Amino acid sequence: RCDLNAPTSQRTFLDAQKAAIEEFAMNKNKREREFYSLDVGDSTFTVLKRYQNLRPIGSGAQGIVCSAYDQILERNVAIKKLSRPFQNQTHAKRAFRELVLMKCVNHKNIIGLLNVFTPQKSFEEFQDVYLVMELMDANLCQVIQMELDHERLSYLLYQMLCGIKHLHSAGIIHRDLKPSNIVVKSDCTLKILDFGLARTAATGLLMTPYVVTRYYRAPEVILGMGYQANVDVWSVGCIVAEMIRGSVLFPGTDHIDQWNKVIEQLGTPSQDFLMKLNQSVRTYVENRPRYAGYSFEKLFPDALFPADSDHNKLKASQARDLLSKMLVIDASKRISVDEALQHPYINVWYDPAEVEAVRFIQVFLFSQPPPKTLDKQLDEREHTVEEWKELIYKEVSEWEERAKNGVIRGQPSPLGELSL
Ligand code: AMP
Repeated sequence: RCDLNAPTSQRTFLDAQKAAIEEFAMNKNKREREFYSLDVGDSTFTVLKRYQNLRPIGSGAQGIVCSAYDQILERNVAIKKLSRPFQNQTHAKRAFRELVLMKCVNHKNIIGLLNVFTPQKSFEEFQDVYLVMELMDANLCQVIQMELDHERLSYLLYQMLCGIKHLHSAGIIHRDLKPSNIVVKSDCTLKILDFGLARTAATGLLMTPYVVTRYYRAPEVILGMGYQANVDVWSVGCIVAEMIRGSVLFPGTDHIDQWNKVIEQLGTPSQDFLMKLNQSVRTYVENRPRYAGYSFEKLFPDALFPADSDHNKLKASQARDLLSKMLVIDASKRISVDEALQHPYINVWYDPAEVEAVRFIQVFLFSQPPPKTLDKQLDEREHTVEEWKELIYKEVSEWEERAKNGVIRGQPSPLGELSL
């Protein structure tokens, strides 16, 4: 209680304390009024009231994703719930990495964050994080089922490469691109949803019951070799091949079967590749039956492509040529992202503003280290659950603070390419 007889300095201190307690209670009440809860499948979403009409649209390793209508921005958005993202190293590292890297990248082919919030009122109560993103229409798994013409196919491929090039220029090598992590809109615009594997990722062991898809992982990832940026070109090759074939190119049931599926179709790699493997892996690979593999004409015959006109016949042979340069087991002989962007099947779309767009605005706003070293630094972090909780809470609070100050205006991107 405030004692009026107390000396002035003490009174001021007590007044300030009382005011702080009142403000806290007011904020707490305000916060409670700002949120509402609803059940989505097995989960409960507790979201800001501005987000209405929630509907589940997907789920992944991190949790459930809903579409919603944002009454403030007057547009549809996607909301992803991360439940207790600090609960173990795998979840925590991924969530933290995603929150930090999202601030650094800003490209039309990488999904943009519009808002981040937690409904819990204090650090002690902190449980869940909600990420609000631009809403897209479908993921690539759904598009693969469609019959695409060359124009659409090559445009989707071009955008994947632009997004990947942007990630690479920020020092982020994805290594785990797959159709479920790529989303598109009906106008054929495409965005990559995540930042892939952390360099030291414990790949999926703690993520049960979620099944990790390995079909798109490059030989150097499967065989535990060193890798370079074109590790992501392999994944793009597998995705495009699947769009052409209508079925998964290398549907391995595990690491070993994955490798079998690769060599059965592409052939056993040459001796100089085998020499790059560490002894135990090399012994295993050398002891597999030898396969001659098939030509790309056999793997991707004309009948798989739309081929009515002479123009389309040319396109089919260009697409096949590009595939044959992307799906090369030995990374040192595989095409690079830049070379792929220059390939005749792709370069019809080439726009320097999209290909070379390197925008790391927020890095400067938040005075973070240059992006190239950022991902490496993020990766080296090992923390206890409580430390992760603190780090993630700090990131979320920072986003909330920015939203309050109007830094996140909800504009899709400075390029203004979205027309929701
Ligand atoms: P994730 O948890 O990020 O792996 O997302 C799981 C699934 O939710 C994706 O495969 C998409 O089908 C869907 N999804 C995620 N984010 C979005 C988004 N921004 N727009 C549309 N669908 C999305």
